[in-house]
Amino acid sequence: MIKRTLKQVHEMAGGLNDITPFQSRVIQGVTIDSRTIKEGCLFVPLKGAQVDGHQYVKQALADGAAASFWQKDVPNPPNDLPLIIVENTEKALQELARSYRSELNIKVVGITGSNGKTTTKDMTAALLATTYKVHKTSGNFNNHLGLPLTVLSIEENTEAAVLEMGMSSRGEIEFLSNMAKPDVAIITNIGESHLLDLGSREEIANAKLEIVEGLAEEGVLIYHGDEPLLRNRIKRDFPDMKVISFGRTEQNDLFPQLITQGADSTTFTIACDGTEAEYAIPVLGHHNVLNALAAILAAKEFGVDDSSIRMGLSAIQLTNMRMEMVEGAKGQKIINDAYNASPTSVKAAVELIEGLSGFEKKILVLGDMLELGPQEKDFHLKIGELISSDRIDKVFTYGPLAEFIGKGASEAFSKENVRSFQDKQKLIAELEASTQVNDIILVKASRGMRLEEVVQALQK
Ligand code: ATP
Ligand code: MG
Repeated sequence: MIKRTLKQVHEMAGGLNDITPFQSRVIQGVTIDSRTIKEGCLFVPLKGAQVDGHQYVKQALADGAAASFWQKDVPNPPNDLPLIIVENTEKALQELARSYRSELNIKVVGITGSNGKTTTKDMTAALLATTYKVHKTSGNFNNHLGLPLTVLSIEENTEAAVLEMGMSSRGEIEFLSNMAKPDVAIITNIGESHLLDLGSREEIANAKLEIVEGLAEEGVLIYHGDEPLLRNRIKRDFPDMKVISFGRTEQNDLFPQLITQGADSTTFTIACDGTEAEYAIPVLGHHNVLNALAAILAAKEFGVDDSSIRMGLSAIQLTNMRMEMVEGAKGQKIINDAYNASPTSVKAAVELIEGLSGFEKKILVLGDMLELGPQEKDFHLKIGELISSDRIDKVFTYGPLAEFIGKGASEAFSKENVRSFQDKQKLIAELEASTQVNDIILVKASRGMRLEEVVQALQK
């Protein structure tokens, strides 16, 4: 994590006051949360809609913080304390991170896309960790606060950092990319998340492509080449940039030939020097093969050799609630994918369950996909229409929008095999009553639906 004198921090963050009395004091690490003060850290009070962090500055310093920022327009800064007065504390935090990044001698992978950022981040970090000292975004710390905090937590002896970048509107990825300055940028895919904010898939693609703005001069863009919105725009607007594509189809630089879905792992082959090389990942789903391909390409850019790549792939550990396999109290297999959902990711998950064999019953529990804009009902209907009644036994929906998934599925499924619920407890009771040891259950919905509660209940 960052370790600098207050004199340096003052300079890096654009301090406005005279810091001379405290200038040789050293800060180590940065926090915006007064409840997690570590000895010697820098506290950054943010002015939120509900709470103003400035009310905790004195306490933070009493708890061991070495110094604190203070926003200029907040009255009555306490006297005789190690404060750095700044124009705006959030901007100063970002400025500090930008400056720290430029001082670090590291290789950076920046990852954006509609789905699979965290997964690809975890995979890329696992591959790079075979060869380098790696720092990765913890959890989902991917926004205008998460990214600077992630950057500031990088140790100075780190060799490679894998940073996730999220967004909900135009300009955000450009801003984050200029802070992270990636040597390798990855765009995992273009989906429909944030359609409500951005208006069209084209605009979503444009927003993700902003990652190019911060890319190092000799940097490489790795992108999902099956997406025409990316392929065409990259060809048109960035003809001289080094780009590498991955995807399912042969038009890509890297694509899988044969994918075999096991019970708790997935193997795939890649054409290589006239033969087929086989790789395995300890996670499920064809979409995760694509995430792995992106990670492999990034690792190769940094010179990770093939045997290390294989070792790294076997060591992949995903952040929880992403295709997490757990067991219910009756021994049912549950895939907890309740972290989030969008049409692209629900399709990928449904496809995964459809492809599995060896189970008594295969059951989908799908909740609302939120923030999809005016066509939200259609998106849900279409998912329902896509579900194969030959390969799925039951569809349970939860929430008013997911009811349209049920409607879409009702053509192919008999009435008793499609059930729509608005009451989570009733859904849980029905699942408990109707599932057995050899069944597999996929649980997936947008974050706001909190479907992990269903998973937890089934485990009790
Ligand atoms: P967020 O925007 O919330 O940070 P994310 O892009 O980081 O999401 P992950 O957390 O990696 O995405 O995965 C979220 C869900 O998206 C997973 O549970 C999985 O169902 C789905 N998913 C992951 N990778 C892909 C992919 N390449 N294509 C489609 N769906 C995917
Ligand atoms: Mg994420």
